[in-house]
Parts: sequence; C-alpha cells; structure tokens
Amino acid sequence: MARTSYAIAIGSNRRGRHGSPAREVAAAIDALGGVTAVSPILHTPPLGPSKRRFANAVALIESDEPPPALLRRLKALERGFGRRRGRNWGARVIDLDIILWSGGSWGEPALTVPHRLFRGREFVLAPLARVAADWRDPVTGLSVRQLAARLRRKR
Ligand code: AMP
Repeated sequence: MARTSYAIAIGSNRRGRHGSPAREVAAAIDALGGVTAVSPILHTPPLGPSKRRFANAVALIESDEPPPALLRRLKALERGFGRRRGRNWGARVIDLDIILWSGGSWGEPALTVPHRLFRGREFVLAPLARVAADWRDPVTGLSVRQLAARLRRKR
C-alpha cells in the first residue's frame, strides 16, 4: 500500500507510569512512529461523568499500514499504556483515535474514518487545526479550519 498520512488524536485523563496525563500524551506521541507534526498539548475539561481533566493533542503520522492495521497497532499501544477496557467515560491512561486519513473515507462498523464524532469535538478540532488547518474532511467538504469555526459558532 502507498505511504499515507493519518491524523491521530491522543487523549489522557489519568496518571500512568510516565506521570501526568500530559506526560502520558507526550510518551504516546513518541511511541507512534512516523510522526511528521505534533500539535501543542491542550487541556480540556472532562466530558461526561468523569471528573478528570483531559490532556489532548493531535499528531500527523506517515505509515504504510491500511487503516485496520493501524487501528490494531493503536489498540496495542493503548493496552501498553494501561487503558482500562469497557469504561467509555472512565479514567483512561491513553485514548488513540484515527481522525483523518489521506486515502479519504473508510467505512466499517468497527472502524470509521473520518472519525464519526470529530466534527463536534473541540478537543480534537482545536489541536487538529494547529497541524492540519487546510486538511479537507472528505464527508462534508469543509476544511479543518472551517469545521473548527463552525463548532465555535454553535457554542
Ligand atoms: P473508544 O474506546 O470510545 O475510543 O472507542 C474505540 C472503538 O471505536 C474501537 O474499538 C474501534 O473499533 C472503534 N472505532 C471506530 N472508528 C474509529 C476510529 N476512527 N478510530 C479509533 N477507533 C474507532
């Protein structure tokens, strides 16, 4: 498969063996491989019932892997960071999501790219806009900059 780029969202709201959530995010970025750009690490209030603040970032990577292979690798990385399974809103050391892929769209129940929720998530769009403001969402045709502005207007 041709070399492709991906935008990966990284989030943490729990201390792990590297330290604070921000340190966990930095360690996860180091572990990703093929990184070509990294956003600043932003701090966002918790979503849902969890009380812990999140550290969030977006990294652009280059990889030969098709989306399902990359997702398997990301899940293995999450496990290595001590993610607790089956607790959607609970504390997690590291959460890794595939947001965008230079190949366009990928549609499977277990893996949807672009990520199905990213257009409504400030904690993804804000760091994504720092590294890929002109990247166009293949579903809406809007750039990341436009998606971020649209979300801000809704608030
Ligand atoms: P969550 O734990 O809430 O991040 O959800 C993870 C699950 O969502 C994974 O097990 C994937 O099968 C599924 N999923 C669907 N689309 C994506 C995506 N673009 N990136 C990461 N996980 C995805």
